[in-house]
Amino acid sequence: MIGAAELADMKADAWLLNVSRGGIVDQPALAAAVGARRIGGAYLDVTDPEPLPAHSELWVMPNVIITPHSSWLSPDSGSVPPSCLPTTCAAGARVNPCETWWIPMPDTEFSVDTFRQELRAWLGRELPAIWGSPTRPVRPGEDDDMAMRRRFDRALYAAGWAGLSWPAAYGGRDAPIDCERILAEEATEAGAPERFNRVGLGIVAPAIIGFGSAAHKDRYLRPILNSDEIWCQGFSEPNAGSDLASLSTRATLVDGRWRITGQKVWTTLSAVADFCLLLARTGEPGSAHRGITAFIVPMHQPGVTVRPIRQINDSTEFSEVFFDNAETASDPVIGVVDRGWQLAMSVLAYERSTNLLNRQVRLDMTLRALRRAAGRYPRQRAGTAHRRTR
Ligand SMILES: Cc1cc2nc3c(=O)[nH]c(=O)nc-3n(C[C@H](O)[C@H](O)[C@H](O)COP(=O)(O)OP(=O)(O)OC[C@H]3O[C@@H](n4cnc5c(N)ncnc54)[C@H](O)[C@@H]3O)c2cc1C
Repeated sequence: MIGAAELADMKADAWLLNVSRGGIVDQPALAAAVGARRIGGAYLDVTDPEPLPAHSELWVMPNVIITPHSSWLSPDSGSVPPSCLPTTCAAGARVNPCETWWIPMPDTEFSVDTFRQELRAWLGRELPAIWGSPTRPVRPGEDDDMAMRRRFDRALYAAGWAGLSWPAAYGGRDAPIDCERILAEEATEAGAPERFNRVGLGIVAPAIIGFGSAAHKDRYLRPILNSDEIWCQGFSEPNAGSDLASLSTRATLVDGRWRITGQKVWTTLSAVADFCLLLARTGEPGSAHRGITAFIVPMHQPGVTVRPIRQINDSTEFSEVFFDNAETASDPVIGVVDRGWQLAMSVLAYERSTNLLNRQVRLDMTLRALRRAAGRYPRQRAGTAHRRTR
């Protein structure tokens, strides 16, 4: 991701704007550097002629609609004058800015029906490219499947279908929650894989949005949304499942840095995760829910050992994870030390609701398909088939 400093260096001759679906809005430094402002919740405005010399260029990323016009549009007018009806630019299009550029985001007049149609068309077009053949391989290997699901996550992000109900300030679309259900329905209907970074998207991101600092949001949310960084959730332990408050993995301050020692279990995606949202005890043993803190722990380090749990279907999607004096990230505490229980309860609410929405829709549609298939066969009295085979 380009930073404000790099952008400042580029000022003389080029601009690279990744404003797809509000991408720039959550980065105040970047926005300030390009003179971008959010107006009426729907527009990015790059109006300052000073930082855009005549020979500069805008490199347009996917899903950005760009409209040149020279008149001022009131943020509150609520309508776009006919003179500046948007024109869609192809990804990578290079345009010379004239005196004023408006970059309306594509969601200005949001319609759920249009959303569904566009999404369905996109899935029909893009899915074969994602799995490299006209139809999805019936039984991809585990690594292939993960790679395919990651490609799907990234394609969704690039096309603006990721983070639908997230606040626009964090790269989302501020769309109604119904759109998440429509995405799940259309993706299932099209045979798309389940989201790869689902722990990051559905569990960790809400924790960071709800309890993290501005620096946490700036550092971690975007790579979750585009699946550049995969997360796992280190809550459950061998002796702390339903009774989560009895967890004993311990965090200790050593020379000003928190270190983690203990064991987690059933940790989904931990074998491939870059970070773990981990609950550890920072209070006295027995302090129960009053002595727990939520940490960010990098997974790729000597202090972390992942031992996959092989299931009956040969999948190893979750593992045991052992922490031996493991290092935490810089600025590792999300929320307040000893107050991680509040975060945990909030996160579990997300886990059981919006995060499960996708799976619930999938299961429901699969069950209905099974019922339809079963309905195509004549009913048999129980035991009939068995007797006939004797
Ligand atoms: C597919 C899958 C993925 C998972 N991924 C993760 C993950 O990524 N990260 C993570 O941290 N965890 C994960 N978990 C763990 C999950 O959250 C645990 O299953 C949960 O914490 C329950 O713990 P347990 O399995 O030890 O069951 P237990 O706590 O041992 O419970 C077993 C049974 O006993 C019942 N029971 C327990 N206590 C009582 C009581 N006092 N009274 C009456 N009944 C009781 C429970 O309801 C349950 O039916 C995953 C689990 C599954 C199935």
